[in-house]
Amino acid sequence: MTAYAVMKSVPSNRPWTPPTVYRALKRLVDAGLVHRIESINAYVICAHHQHRGAAAVIAICRSCGGAEELAEGCVFEQLTNVAQPHGFRIEQAIIELTGQCARCAERPLAKSTTAEDARRELTG
Ligand SMILES: [Zn+2]
Ligand SMILES: [Zn+2]
Repeated sequence: MTAYAVMKSVPSNRPWTPPTVYRALKRLVDAGLVHRIESINAYVICAHHQHRGAAAVIAICRSCGGAEELAEGCVFEQLTNVAQPHGFRIEQAIIELTGQCARCAERPLAKSTTAEDARRELTG
């Protein structure tokens, strides 16, 4: 969700102003309830309700624009292993993945080459 979409979706008698929305979003980000997605300037609700001390892995679909936080597993530990020899202490790790979500990948595209077409081409 963009800050503008958030502003539009909050029911209120008085219209919210952008500074109010950005302040509220910043508070949610600081509390670990929401993640900011830098690459598309948007926000996503934390999949863990309250994010603490782990990498946030966010999958962003280029087709539908959807964003979802994925279970991070041991990513933070691996990044710590990379940073530690350099004396770097990680405070926050947000990894933004760009690609196609399962729903969009399933949708057949008009002129795309399917795996079956490729196999036929290879075998003649
Ligand atoms: Zn999270
Ligand atoms: Zn998608």
